[in-house]
This record gives sequence, structure tokens and C-alpha cells, in this order.
Amino acid sequence: MLIDAYARRFTYLRLSITESCNFRCSYCLPDGPDCSSRKDELTLPEIKRLVKAFALLGTRKVRITGGEPSLRKDLTDIIAACKQTDGIEQVALTTNGYRLQRDLSNWQQAGLDAINVSVDSLDAATFHLVTGENRLPAILDGIEQAMAAGMGKVKLNTVLLRQHNALQLPDFLEFVRDKAVSLRFIELMRTNDNQSYYQQQHLSGASIQQQLLRQGWQLEAKVRSAGPALEYSHPDYQGQIGLIMPYSKDFCADCNRLRVSSRGQLFLCLFTEQHQNLRHLLQDDNPKPLMHYLQRAVLGKAASHELHQGNSGSTRHLAMIGG
Ligand code: SAM
Repeated sequence: MLIDAYARRFTYLRLSITESCNFRCSYCLPDGPDCSSRKDELTLPEIKRLVKAFALLGTRKVRITGGEPSLRKDLTDIIAACKQTDGIEQVALTTNGYRLQRDLSNWQQAGLDAINVSVDSLDAATFHLVTGENRLPAILDGIEQAMAAGMGKVKLNTVLLRQHNALQLPDFLEFVRDKAVSLRFIELMRTNDNQSYYQQQHLSGASIQQQLLRQGWQLEAKVRSAGPALEYSHPDYQGQIGLIMPYSKDFCADCNRLRVSSRGQLFLCLFTEQHQNLRHLLQDDNPKPLMHYLQRAVLGKAASHELHQGNSGSTRHLAMIGG
């Protein structure tokens, strides 16, 4: 098992497969990615060995993320490889939705269980402004397709932005009225690249929380394996609203996740100074050296990130590690 010094058990791997992205989200990569990282991306055989070692240590869920994971031509093979690994029960994907309409059925056939799609606004002009891409209708159509195709869990991620979408709560609520999706507001996190943007746009999720409670939304009980979102439901709505508030007290107390970057670096936290290179341990099929390394490494995981102190570690933007 992977257990740290605070008795937290890690059963969830977030695996970034590329730093590259085709969107220019204003809080993440407004000037585009550094494409030089692409040549160092983990190969499919390296990914298979990595996931096998994690699975042997109790990992049950893999989320494939990036950058934009669908930019990789072998994404379908990566999904299949994760799904076929003994012990892996759930394979999820976080995407901007750009390839959803074209590739969803291939991903499903490969074994994809769940999908999170980033949608920062349901207003086409705001979406364009925030992401740099005028693609909202196609992305919403892809989400409809995913639901119609019986994709188990479909979630929407919305980064809460004071000047862009914070006043659009009624649109988001209307969206989930008759759709069985969970729409989660993620509080904007401060990274080394977005500090002045953070000052302008950060808004605590508590402001949404208060509006939800006033309108009769109720907090759902959390199951142990759940992620960091607080989920709210309402009898008049089929969907749910989630809040991810990394600045809230005890956010890290039940952390169950580890991250590996597209270059094969282990990040014990999204906001840390240190990372460990795993690549040399991914060059042959014996999982034991990597397993021993991981078991020792997790003991160095800090109790909490230091975002409250304005310390984002070495994280320039979330595409680096896989947000
Ligand atoms: N390209 C994919 C996507 O758009 O979902 C996956 C990678 S993206 C880095 C993963 C998630 O992180 C997205 O929902 C994105 O909106 C979120 N994100 C990126 N930077 C963030 C920040 N500074 N604070 C909060 N969320 C952020």
C-alpha cells in the first residue's frame, strides 16, 4: 500500500500525459504551452509499467489529464492500457472537450468510465474570452453525446472567476435542472504564473455555497473514496453542484491522490517545490524497484499545501503537472 506519515492512503493516480494544450485559458496558459516538453512525454510502454506498479500498491483509480490529453494520438491506447491493468477499477479523463464529439465512442470502447469536461461559462462570449476558443456549442454537444451514450459519470469543471462567471450562477443552475451531471466550481488557485490574475479574479467558493444554501440546496454525505468536492443536491434539479475549495480548512486532510507529470516526475502535491524523477525506474518490466521507491517517497508528503501562505511551490501553471 501507499500510506504516508499522516496515515493517508493513496488509491488515486492523476496521470498527466502531455503539458501541451490547444486552449489559452486566461488563468492557466494564456500565451500557449511550451511545446518543447512534448518530446519528453512518457511513452505507452512507460505508462503501462507506471500504472502497473501503482496498481500493485493499491491504486484503484487513474485520471488521465494534462495539458490537453486528447492532443495525444495514442490517448485511446493509453485509456485501454490503464483499464486493462489488474487492480484498476476506474479510468477517468479530464479534457477541454475539444475531441469529445469525434473520439468519445473510441474512448468508451477502450474502457473509459468517467469524464470531466472543463466549461468555464455557458455564455459563448464569456467562454471565448476565458479560454481563447469560440467552441462552446460543440463542447456542449459533446457533453450531451457523452450522457446519451451512457457514460457513467459526466462532470463539468468551472473555475470560479470573479469578473467572468461568478454572476452566472443562474445559468449553471438551469443547466443542471434536467441533466444528471455534476457541475463543480473550482476556486481559482494561485500559481507562479497567474499572481496578478489571481488577485483580480479569485473568489471564495463560500459565496456560491451561501447562495446554494439560501435556495434550498443540501450538502450530500461524502463517501470515503470521494474526491475533494462538496456536492450539493436539490429536489427540483436532476444534476448536482459541487464546490472544490482548496483554500478551505482541512482540504488536504483526506487527500488520496498522487500525481505523475507527462515527463514521468512524481509530484506528491499539486503545489510543492519538490518532485522525483521516475523515468529511470520505467525502463524494464520489473515493477519492484519503482514500488519500493514510491513507498519511500510518499513518506515525504507534507501535511498540507502552503497556498494560504501564498506559496505555490514550483508550480508555474496547472498544465505542468495536470490540474
Ligand atoms: N485540458 C484539460 C481541461 O481543460 O480540463 C485538463 C487539464 S486542466 C489543467 C485541468 C483542470 O484544471 C481544468 O478544469 C482547469 O480549468 C483547471 N485549472 C487550471 N488552472 C487552474 C487554476 N489556476 N485554478 C483552478 N483550476 C485550474
